Amino acid sequence: MRRTAFLSILLSVALGASAQIRPVKPGWNLFSPQQDVQLGKEAAAQIQQKMAVVHNPDLDRYLNTLLDRLKQSPHAGKDTGTQFPFSISAVYDKNINAFALPGGPLFIHTALIQAADNEAQLAGVIGHEMSHIVLRHSTNQVSKQNLVSIPAMLAGAVLGHGILGQLGQAGVGLVAHSALLTFSRTDEAEADYNSALIVADAGYNPIEMAHFFEKLEAKAGRQGVLSQLLSDHPNPGNRVKAVEDEVRQMPQRPFNSDTGQFQRIKDLVNHMPAPGNLTSNFQDGHAPSPPSVRPSGRMRDYKGSAFALSYPDNWQVFGEQQSNMVTIAPQEGLIKNGTSVAIGYGLEVSYYFPEGNALDLERDTQALVRQLMQQNSGMRVAQSSQATEVGGQRGLVTSFTAQSPFQGETESDTLVTVARPEGLFYLVFISPQSEANHVQAALRDVLSSVRFQ
Ligand SMILES: [Zn+2]
Repeated sequence: MRRTAFLSILLSVALGASAQIRPVKPGWNLFSPQQDVQLGKEAAAQIQQKMAVVHNPDLDRYLNTLLDRLKQSPHAGKDTGTQFPFSISAVYDKNINAFALPGGPLFIHTALIQAADNEAQLAGVIGHEMSHIVLRHSTNQVSKQNLVSIPAMLAGAVLGHGILGQLGQAGVGLVAHSALLTFSRTDEAEADYNSALIVADAGYNPIEMAHFFEKLEAKAGRQGVLSQLLSDHPNPGNRVKAVEDEVRQMPQRPFNSDTGQFQRIKDLVNHMPAPGNLTSNFQDGHAPSPPSVRPSGRMRDYKGSAFALSYPDNWQVFGEQQSNMVTIAPQEGLIKNGTSVAIGYGLEVSYYFPEGNALDLERDTQALVRQLMQQNSGMRVAQSSQATEVGGQRGLVTSFTAQSPFQGETESDTLVTVARPEGLFYLVFISPQSEANHVQAALRDVLSSVRFQ
């Protein structure tokens, strides 16, 4: 709903005669900006293995010159609060495309450089991809997918499996149509809008980016084949007109930046030899561990960005302070299974985003319960939802039994939900049934410590 409200602001900015330029802000996100950076690093390492990343000093220098110019704009991070470590590389590929990974890495296919008419078009595409990074669209998309396993994934990431490996378990890898690489029309409208500000600051005419997308669309119409760029970056509608209207709101200034190198670089790319075959391999071992430690009676504080709580001081935080999701567990409570991690003992906190607009505690809790049961075969409701109070708010508590990742164990899960303005807050407390009596006090202490900001 925040996005809809935002879009209407955006449209009024674009259409209203008296409106003025307003910076775009990232949407609500389960991940922290540091987690964006980590995820992007891991994904970039895979790209380096799997794709034909070009190592040509001339081309690298050129792309970095454009990136450095665009980076100076306040809309490239300064005014959204996070300055991401951008990097740029070319990939030898016949499909016209460019893509951005969360947290900074940008990749430009050689075919895109060949398809562009001028430097402003290339700069426009780079600015557009930078905007997806700055506005954190990838992790925002993943956040909206309601992957209830995300807190466990992050725990797995801390154990050395990487955030990307964990997301891959949930089908969110570096694959076609993955939420990491595919954007909504609203994302596109935002990226176009922000990109126009970035490239104008760098002295390029923003309309060239819109013309480039339009040109690719016309070509797709003629050939019946959509370039990857267009399928990952769907037309938000009237791209050219939206940018034209936006430029009219900008202060008048000359668009006369040009390195004069574009044609030479294009020739260089045209004559680049095709790379040899590439192989890739991603494997991981696993080592199950038995349950052991009981929660100590002493508590330590965790402060998230929208909530705070206390947890047994012999448990560990897998995640970050100031985040909206976290796993807190004894190290032995995390069971590695291949590349994924199951939490057999500990607690997870995150948010669930219900369908539709208004939050409804009962309805949304039921939706979350259904999803948890779908994702965990053998999970059964042991006690249906009961009213409770958490952090001074009305909440629901629901109990489950499930298959424990510990050998020969059944699992006891307690789910607590509270409807919050950000989404449905949920906390799951997990333990093997044989330990259930020993964790009751810890569960009570944790629940009574929850505070919302
Ligand atoms: Zn896009």
